Amino acid sequence: MAPLVLRTVAETAAWVDSLRRSGRRLALVPTMGFLHEGHVSLMREGRRRADVVAASIFVNPTQFGPKEDLSRYPRDLEGDLAKCASAGVEAVFAPVPAEVYPPGYQTYVDVEQVSQGLCGARRPGHFRGVATVVTKLLCLFKPQLALFGEKDYQQLQVIRALERDLNLGVEIIGMPTVREADGLAMSSRNAYLSPEDRQRALALSRGLAAAQALCRSGTRETPALVAAVRRELEAAGLREDYVELVDATSLTPLPAVSPGQTARLLVAAFVGSTRLIDNQPIGG
Ligand code: AMP
Repeated sequence: MAPLVLRTVAETAAWVDSLRRSGRRLALVPTMGFLHEGHVSLMREGRRRADVVAASIFVNPTQFGPKEDLSRYPRDLEGDLAKCASAGVEAVFAPVPAEVYPPGYQTYVDVEQVSQGLCGARRPGHFRGVATVVTKLLCLFKPQLALFGEKDYQQLQVIRALERDLNLGVEIIGMPTVREADGLAMSSRNAYLSPEDRQRALALSRGLAAAQALCRSGTRETPALVAAVRRELEAAGLREDYVELVDATSLTPLPAVSPGQTARLLVAAFVGSTRLIDNQPIGG
């Protein structure tokens, strides 16, 4: 069935109220739209874990820097609603920006440590925008659970921190990255890539896999693991934004993967003008 499309905060609050009165458990999947199988995997898991799934489709202006791709970010509300319908989503919040940030809007959420490195260091203000919109969505929908992808690994840690610190009482579920058959992490931004760039973009996942193989064969020092990723980026002619090995929860840089430690290797690189990210657990 086609999902109910909620355009305003007031409509959404009324829908949430009636849902709460019915006692049904709600799962929320926040997105920026142009949906792919990665988004759909979150919706399907929401269906498994709750009675009702709602999604949001909102290209959030506060998480884009002034020189980033806000105006050209891909959009396809009709196609997205069809995907939501087939994933069993009951309601979709698709507001205009002024509904989320009306005149006089002045409240922002800053998650400190975990926002600082990686994408946070290269995209000033990005996680402030993410944390603000996610907090607003969690307050509006009051879901029992909300699902996010590990594809945006730092974002997931930022959201876990804000949920805990603000006592929001929402179970945050992190879901594995859904990939194309050749390993490329699915992303709405893959739509920007020419066929040649689409091939070159494989260097991110290939580099992470090479580092993981190296780690399994006993090389655990960060410089060697990072170099394995860099070799793939360079071979494909991609410009590195960062390659870092960090603790999987605090995201602090690690000098090596210790036995039994859960570490995460993260990469961001430009394929032409398109910035892509990917990450993998490493070691253990
Ligand atoms: P976005 O629309 O890019 O803001 O993403 C919305 C949600 O979908 C976020 O929680 C993302 O982490 C998640 N997501 C995006 N791409 C993938 C993917 N390839 N696999 C799993 N989750 C994803």
